[in-house]
Amino acid sequence: MSVALPQTRPEHLTPHDLVTYSRCPHEMELIRARRASLHSPTPVTPVTPADVVPERHSPLFAPPLGRLRVNEGRLDVAPHDTLVYIDDGEDDLPVLFPAEQVRLDSLFSRHGGTLVDEELGLGGRPDFVVRSPDGNFVPIEYKTTHLFLDLPQIHHELHLASHGRSFDTIQAIAECRLVHAVTGRRPTHGIVLYGDVAGSGTHEGWVEVPYGDAEEHWLRAALLQIRTDGRRPPVPAERNCAACEPNRDGQCRYAAARFEGAHVAALSHPTFR
Ligand code: SF4
Repeated sequence: MSVALPQTRPEHLTPHDLVTYSRCPHEMELIRARRASLHSPTPVTPVTPADVVPERHSPLFAPPLGRLRVNEGRLDVAPHDTLVYIDDGEDDLPVLFPAEQVRLDSLFSRHGGTLVDEELGLGGRPDFVVRSPDGNFVPIEYKTTHLFLDLPQIHHELHLASHGRSFDTIQAIAECRLVHAVTGRRPTHGIVLYGDVAGSGTHEGWVEVPYGDAEEHWLRAALLQIRTDGRRPPVPAERNCAACEPNRDGQCRYAAARFEGAHVAALSHPTFR
């Protein structure tokens, strides 16, 4: 007689977790333990063992980057596109659409505005989701950082080589998957939109991140990698530690630099609840 084994739910992860793990697994683990402690009567201890040996790089393999398309200038909305989702937990998002092109879809509000993928144990909130007339959905992640600011001589190839493209690609891939899970339709691509702090439009830009079989396979493998990593080692490096929130709070004994400013959303954002 066969006995049904109880199904265990996969560890809940967010697009931010993926990005953070790709930078420093221990940073992700410290944030995860702090988040879990909010819902536990006793503090949740990070899994990183006390005798862990710091690593030089995150064990996460890079996402596919070969098909990214980097664009300078404003992202113009098409006249027949509609805005169907906006993250109401985010302040200061730009106004991309006139009111007549905003038709928020209740599909996206089932979990209080958090998009949930039960199969992969993933949940998160893109900044926007746009629907085109052919029914394709496109998630958009907005970054206030400039795509080309202070680097007017930079060209696409060089910019694509910067580490930021990898982080943004990871987030866009995860958000495409969330939209797929919620709508049943796989997006062809996601967009990372960079703001124009100068206001002239000259530095605005966006990156189009294709989403297909290769990207979905990468995502599934990345989630497995994170969930089976029982060490979640620190990756001390100035570029990581100077912007690490657990470092700001004195939680990491491996820090290679003083904290200088956050690069992740505040823990109070709905994504982290
Ligand atoms: S301070 Fe550095 S090593 Fe420690 S968790 Fe943060 S990024 Fe990782």
